[in-house]
Amino acid sequence: MKYFWNIIFTILLFSCNNNLSDKKLTKQSQPKHYLTVLGTAQDGGYPHIGCQKICCANYYNGTNKRKSVVSLGLVDLENNQKWLFDATPDMHTQLAELEKNHLKNKKVIDGVFLTHAHIGHYTGLMYFGREALGKKNINIFAMPKMKKYLTKNGPWSQLISLENIKLQPLQHDSIIILNNKLTVTPFFVPHRDEFSETVGYKIKGSKKSALFIPDIDKWQKWKRNIIDEVKKVDYAFVDATFLNQKEVKRAMTEVPHPFIEETIKLFQNQTFTTKNKVIFIHFNHTNPVLQENSEVRTEIEKLGFRFASEGQNYGL
Ligand SMILES: [Zn+2]
Ligand SMILES: [Zn+2]
Ligand SMILES: [Zn+2]
Repeated sequence: MKYFWNIIFTILLFSCNNNLSDKKLTKQSQPKHYLTVLGTAQDGGYPHIGCQKICCANYYNGTNKRKSVVSLGLVDLENNQKWLFDATPDMHTQLAELEKNHLKNKKVIDGVFLTHAHIGHYTGLMYFGREALGKKNINIFAMPKMKKYLTKNGPWSQLISLENIKLQPLQHDSIIILNNKLTVTPFFVPHRDEFSETVGYKIKGSKKSALFIPDIDKWQKWKRNIIDEVKKVDYAFVDATFLNQKEVKRAMTEVPHPFIEETIKLFQNQTFTTKNKVIFIHFNHTNPVLQENSEVRTEIEKLGFRFASEGQNYGL
């Protein structure tokens, strides 16, 4: 009976969702395993604190909807499991979206994979504590420094001592087998590592795979070649915090990121198919591409690049 309802749910989900970004996600090939975009904004979110400029005024005047901080949900309808990439300050509503639109199982989440200790990427863990959810043993996958940081510092350490969360260790390039269809592999990326190291993830299904690199200082600083890495996967969700230098009023050394224009230039000699794998995410409130009807966004899309939007699904 449960299986029957799962099938019905799947059919409803994929026939009603006309926001499917991967064209292969048709009714004929409903994926049982997929990533869903739960947030696209940089750590500070959208609208942004202290901003009354046109970017954020467009939220207050009703032109734009609020946008959640970057997060991906990983859904397995076959095994009734779901995972989250990063615990954002919007995690409470993102988990609700995941349950309402994708999968309701016995757990609020089967596990959370953390990239690093900047506010947009882990502070959502607070919702697992006694003041909020207060359940036991939620799996949190973390790298060694991140693990140490959470263990040694309040309020996070209380989540561990009260057993609200259970830390699951990760290692660079070591594969986590979630089940017979899904694996997750963390890998180091260069970033401002004040409290923890920073990782990106490779997420592999039986048919397709994805890269998730929400934060990286500059592509040139990375030991790996982003073009080669993009070619190896079907989707690459990459740091697109700023469009270009003009957008950044503060010293770039304080907050280095690859500008979208730099990434475009790096890929200029690549095929349309390769460019089409690149899905920009992690937008600062000032980034014009965050405004969905912006001209610059349309121009970039014409080159083949894509933009992540909440509600998109990508089959694995
Ligand atoms: Zn970030
Ligand atoms: Zn703003
Ligand atoms: Zn960061």
